[in-house]
Amino acid sequence: MKPIRIAALALMGSTALVAPALAQDGNARNVILMITDGTGIESFRAASYYRFGKLGHEVYDDFDVQVFTSTHPLNGSSEPTNSDEGTITFDPAQVWNDQAVDTVFEGSLGNYEGYVAGYDYVRADYTDSAAAATALASGRKTYNNAINWSNNDEPMRHIGEYVADSGRSLGVVSSVQFSHATPAGFLAHNRSRNEYAAIGAEIIDSELATVVFGAGHPHYDANGRYVETPDERAYRYVGGQDYWQRLSNGETGFQFIESRDDFEALASGEMQIEGERVLGLAQNVQSLQFNRDGVAMGNLLETSPSLATLTLGALNVLGENEEGFFLMVEGGAIDWAAHANNLPRLIEEQIDFNTAVEAAVDWVETNSSWDETLIIVTTDHGNGLLQGPDSDKVAYSPVVSQGAGALPLVRWHTDTHTREMVPLYAQGAGADFFREIAQEEPGLATYNVKAEAQYLIDNTDVFRAAMNAMGIEEVSN
Ligand SMILES: [Zn+2]
Repeated sequence: MKPIRIAALALMGSTALVAPALAQDGNARNVILMITDGTGIESFRAASYYRFGKLGHEVYDDFDVQVFTSTHPLNGSSEPTNSDEGTITFDPAQVWNDQAVDTVFEGSLGNYEGYVAGYDYVRADYTDSAAAATALASGRKTYNNAINWSNNDEPMRHIGEYVADSGRSLGVVSSVQFSHATPAGFLAHNRSRNEYAAIGAEIIDSELATVVFGAGHPHYDANGRYVETPDERAYRYVGGQDYWQRLSNGETGFQFIESRDDFEALASGEMQIEGERVLGLAQNVQSLQFNRDGVAMGNLLETSPSLATLTLGALNVLGENEEGFFLMVEGGAIDWAAHANNLPRLIEEQIDFNTAVEAAVDWVETNSSWDETLIIVTTDHGNGLLQGPDSDKVAYSPVVSQGAGALPLVRWHTDTHTREMVPLYAQGAGADFFREIAQEEPGLATYNVKAEAQYLIDNTDVFRAAMNAMGIEEVSN
């Protein structure tokens, strides 16, 4: 299947049309975009406190560029509207509004008090992972549910297509199903993220990617146990039963791998991929670890590789291309832990993600260099509005460390997404682009971040930064 060309985009959000008039840097052979799904600043910090007992020790804390990003979708619709009505705006000043309110936010798990006007503001008009992935991958705002699909009901060209056309290889790695919203945003186009089978089929048929790793194995349950005759629905993540037969029999364009041993052999360099492309499914229908029984940390499934292993394996395959590559790595279940207000597993998932970032940094420093590779670490939106125990009295009061190995003290303010400003870290070729386009946002001092980090970009700018770094020009027809 040929990449789908974009039709008119004239009615898209205004930010989409105002590309910064900067020269294309074009020094980056490789871009690695790492997304921890659904992670506000205090979620990052909760994991760091558990891990180190203090902040500043994650590998990305040393990155040259640290800014924040806005994440709101184009509108509140769940399907194309062909209209500018209901366009969602974002005003940082309203985030910081600490005026007391006596509202109640009705969540899925229960009710959450309002406390301050700023919390109500960030709990409204939030993006889903599909619109957020589209913004990151296509540089365009769209409606929630859209996978590279415009509000005018047209497919939109995403960075995976640009990258493949530039001669680079595309890789996508996720700790959840590869046809789930975030990975799909770098591989496919669909009017609705819920069309898993169609998305899975497009990913396999298009042969756009060189590497696709994720969960969503139809023959293993959420505890990694083999299932002889799965439910029909279990096959949808890989495109349906027919696609599964062809994929597992090696009758698609992808070599198929699934065992933890194979992923580890690929990561260590002991195994080579025979053909041009590889699709790997960890032996779990849901995620690498999060969906196993229980709610506590620990007792990890031995059947699943770590996200770091998947990342290293992908880098070893992609690094074979002299022209370079674009790799998206998603920690997909941090979001699911936040939806469940499950702090231990949120921390567990975030540490797995952070370890994957360390693996990518090591790979760059061993096999490439910062002169030719850009790493971006960010999230697609907040989730849970995790704050400190005193955040009912003081707006945005931070989580409180109890030392390494102990759960920090926290307070949840929702069980779904938010439109809070979220962290972005970047290092390497083209990272300065973020600094050049960022707008000062002094309110970010509320998060106790250094002055250089009190700057704001929009999630659509991530696409532009990656394109700029690789010297690829956007087609704006
Ligand atoms: Zn998300």
